[in-house]
Amino acid sequence: MACFRRRTAAGLIFHSDRATQYCSQDFQDTLLAWGIRSSMSREGNCWDNALTESLWGRLKTACDHGPRYATREQAKQAVMDWIAFYNHSRLHSALGYLSPMQFEQRWTDVQTLVKAIKVLRRIVSQSPLADMVMDEVEPGPHATTDAALVEYVKARAELGYHASGTCRMGLDEKAVVTPDLRVRGLENLYIADASVMPELISGNINAACMMIGEKLGRQLRG
Ligand SMILES: Cc1cc2nc3c(=O)[nH]c(=O)nc-3n(C[C@H](O)[C@H](O)[C@H](O)COP(=O)(O)OP(=O)(O)OC[C@H]3O[C@@H](n4cnc5c(N)ncnc54)[C@H](O)[C@@H]3O)c2cc1C
Repeated sequence: MACFRRRTAAGLIFHSDRATQYCSQDFQDTLLAWGIRSSMSREGNCWDNALTESLWGRLKTACDHGPRYATREQAKQAVMDWIAFYNHSRLHSALGYLSPMQFEQRWTDVQTLVKAIKVLRRIVSQSPLADMVMDEVEPGPHATTDAALVEYVKARAELGYHASGTCRMGLDEKAVVTPDLRVRGLENLYIADASVMPELISGNINAACMMIGEKLGRQLRG
């Protein structure tokens, strides 16, 4: 199911112990078909498989040693629910107290930014921009490897958070202001700032804030 939902990427390794189900021809054929490498660690070395063992241990504590299930289907559902919890919500000290999904999202963000730096460098290295550029200031010419770019992104990237939408404009029950910017239920209180935006606009929001202010100014002047 994981392969169907997520697809596999080159270099993917499946860590397991040496139990018969993992050694079986069927299982190994399936791994091969998806291009996944099997790792069963080495004798006396538990480290390769340590994280997977930790997951099994916690799954057993949560699902196996606790409730008794009336049907196989119930047990299956409990395992699926727990895996969803484990992936989305459970915090891992080994991941800096993030859930696996949060950790992966951050990793994807970093990889996207590394790609963006490479694209920018390619663009800037071509005419006509190349003739105008003297030096690369950041990350700098010494940052040539992916590892160096990852370090740079982690150290320097920032979020651009545009607070908006806390007093959403609309016609429905939950809207705070009406389309003429009046606070619903009150006669003479109006709001004209980024908080009335029903959704965050796709560009930066300063110009839109000024237009909202202009609109209310004109409206009140009549
Ligand atoms: C660092 C930074 C860079 C940005 N760069 C850009 C950019 O390049 N381009 C762009 O389009 N947008 C940019 N933005 C976003 C944009 O400037 C703001 O989103 C926009 O100004 C929000 O307007 P606003 O009227 O909703 O709120 P604000 O501009 O924050 O106005 C709120 C006002 O209410 C006042 N106030 C707060 N509490 C009270 C109170 N109790 N009584 C009376 N007055 C009060 C505050 O002093 C303030 O003057 C940037 C924002 C930041 C922080």
